Amino acid sequence: MAGAADIAVETAPLEWDASLWRTAIAQLEQALPHASIDPGTAERLRYPEHATIVSVPIRLDSGETKVFPAYRVQHSRVLGPTKGGVRFDPHVSLSECAALAMWMTWKCALLRLPYGGAKGGIRCNPRELSRGELERMTRRYTAELRGIIGPQEDIPAPDMATDEQTMAWMMDTYSMQVGHATPEIVTGKPISIGGSVFRNEATGAGVVMVIERACQRLGIELAGLRCIVQGFGKVGGIAAHELAGKGAIVTGVGDYSGGVHSGDGLELAAVEQWTAEHGSLGGFPGVSHVTNAELLELPCDVLVLAALEGQVTAANAGRLQARIVAEGANGPTTVEADAVLAERGIPVLPDILTNAGGVTVSYFEWVQDLGRLFWGREDIRTRLAEKMCDAFDRVWELSEQKDLTLRSAALVVGIREVAAALDARGLFP
Ligand code: NAD
Repeated sequence: MAGAADIAVETAPLEWDASLWRTAIAQLEQALPHASIDPGTAERLRYPEHATIVSVPIRLDSGETKVFPAYRVQHSRVLGPTKGGVRFDPHVSLSECAALAMWMTWKCALLRLPYGGAKGGIRCNPRELSRGELERMTRRYTAELRGIIGPQEDIPAPDMATDEQTMAWMMDTYSMQVGHATPEIVTGKPISIGGSVFRNEATGAGVVMVIERACQRLGIELAGLRCIVQGFGKVGGIAAHELAGKGAIVTGVGDYSGGVHSGDGLELAAVEQWTAEHGSLGGFPGVSHVTNAELLELPCDVLVLAALEGQVTAANAGRLQARIVAEGANGPTTVEADAVLAERGIPVLPDILTNAGGVTVSYFEWVQDLGRLFWGREDIRTRLAEKMCDAFDRVWELSEQKDLTLRSAALVVGIREVAAALDARGLFP
């Protein structure tokens, strides 16, 4: 008999039910009607399979003890171990990790990688912590996740404010716990301990592979196109470089300090040298300086968004003058802006497809580690291009067939792959 207590259980919000999770769920619900999957299977996709909260206590350099809340969420394990980054950020929450884990599931499935999606992080301000404090925090977090992460269970990677060094500490901690070197526990680690060549360039290079494929489908020659890249970091810096390598003209780039623009095309080597020496684009000589908002609205053929989320919104989508928008960052275009751009006939190359080069080469890193063999740069680049182009073609075809935006088509393709695996395996017990 249903009593008051049962009703309370029914209506209490789920622990991860907050803003970013709602966006992820809204996208799933929008895609489901086009995915033609069993309602019971769809229901399983709405929940993360595992969500872990741990407390990470460390001794600060001052001698004080401080405890940091930390998380690891695994959205779907049907296709294989889960895969996803670890971020150190003051905004990390169970909800954020759950949403990002769900997006990782669609991204891995879309690329046909044998992984589900995960995400984790520690709620902290990494800029306030010393290197020693970061190391102790990373090692304790890794130790707390014993039994949760593992080469066949869940394989972390770098994300916001984490890098090769963080992965090396995680790899070492896990290896010490199990008693032997286990490089396949993380990806994005230094080459000296089993990292892969071309991992650092993979996301930016993959972005340009997708742009090139889109240009072919649209009947446009990439060489000679004028490109603007927002974000000049690991993704945007490499994407700009790769675009120039294909004969495109990079007329503008931007970072947190603002944008630089030159109608004749930027001298990228000089821009890179300036940012390496000065820490930002600010003050770079001989070009026009614009704000980040202005940079996005300058005329160009391809606009690459490779900085952060929420950059193209309902407020500025109507003023963009690009012919193609490519999402190197996660979530740079809001749902409302997507609708405006679709209405204006500007294709958006969606994040789960366009920035999937990073996780794809992470997969190659894991495979190399498991096999104790190592591939060369050109081999990895060729394998990456094959994977990116294959995923692009499946998305493009579905979008034509069903008259969907590329984003909806990418979600549907990813969701269908996961649903097919759930159906084939059935529901345990
Ligand atoms: P990064 O820290 O190397 O670079 C970020 C760049 O954005 C920097 O140039 C920074 O100055 C700039 N930036 C920061 N705030 C800005 C602002 N307000 N306006 C304009 N520019 C700003 O980070 P990254 O690894 O290049 O990641 C960029 C995006 O790509 C993120 O959304 C990330 O989640 C996504 N992504 C990264 C990878 C990867 O392999 N690195 C993979 C998939 C997705």
